[in-house]
Amino acid sequence: MAVVIDGKAVSAKLRQEMKGEVDALKARGICPGLAVVIVGDDPASRVYVNNKKKACAELGIYSEEYALSGDTTEEELLALVDTLNRKEDIHGILVQLPLPRQISEQKVIAAISPEKDVDAFHTQNVGHIMIGDYRFLPCTPAGIIELIKSTGVPMEGKECVVVGRSNIVGKPMAMLMLHQNATVTICHSRTRDLASVTRRADILIVAIGKAKFVTADMVKEGAMVIDVGMDRDENGKLCGDVDFASVEPKAGYITPVPGGVGPMTITMLMRNTITAASR
Ligand code: NAP
Repeated sequence: MAVVIDGKAVSAKLRQEMKGEVDALKARGICPGLAVVIVGDDPASRVYVNNKKKACAELGIYSEEYALSGDTTEEELLALVDTLNRKEDIHGILVQLPLPRQISEQKVIAAISPEKDVDAFHTQNVGHIMIGDYRFLPCTPAGIIELIKSTGVPMEGKECVVVGRSNIVGKPMAMLMLHQNATVTICHSRTRDLASVTRRADILIVAIGKAKFVTADMVKEGAMVIDVGMDRDENGKLCGDVDFASVEPKAGYITPVPGGVGPMTITMLMRNTITAASR
């Protein structure tokens, strides 16, 4: 039976510490401020945005929401980003992805001031991550590092396999594990004999977006399994990329979905907003 890593508990502990940091900043006359921009009416995006606003309220971070209609033009969104870049009470800007087709996500990310880029998606911040000189840590991978640290299992020298190579999760995740001195392999949809690679992993991190894809035969006995996926099963119920029922008895540690990586992502966004404000 695996130890189930409780993302909600780790998150609550970190948020408690962060609340103290926010209070200390406020005592110096600085109230951290986050602007959240949502374009269109994607229900999943709406849930994420609401959770981010709730986390801000919990920590005493000032937040503003800009809800724009699905037919907003690229120029209109870029103009809003420009306004937010100049707004003194806003230290972090988050544009919820995905954006409607008529808007280039890359152009919008590039327009956000790197000092306010609390998602750490701007190429300047990606560069900082690459060389290990962090301004902001990418939220989901940073949350995963905190989850692994919470177990007390050292990452140094471990065989780590990351499945998925997105710019948001897989690639920065691999880089953070490398900075922790793990030996890192990245897999993707063209990887040959994926199971033979994942079975090597002491720490297996899965971010592919395919419900219950990783089964027990793909996991080494006693491995740590981190499930980033947010998928729906055949009954429409929220689940991860890992088949929890079959993998949990074989793994040493495992994150559940929900209640694993998800809460950590938002907590790390709060951390980046506090970091931006304290600068
Ligand atoms: P993405 O941009 O769609 O990337 C998926 C990656 O998985 C790609 O690199 C793809 O390979 C790879 N892949 C797909 N099918 C595969 C297969 N059969 N075998 C091996 N690799 C495969 O996804 P993402 O944005 O990284 O998100 C991944 C999952 O994490 C989603 O479920 C998302 O909802 C979830 N997520 C959760 C959080 C959170 O806070 N919990 C945050 C972000 C994302 P190719 O590059 O070769 O196509």
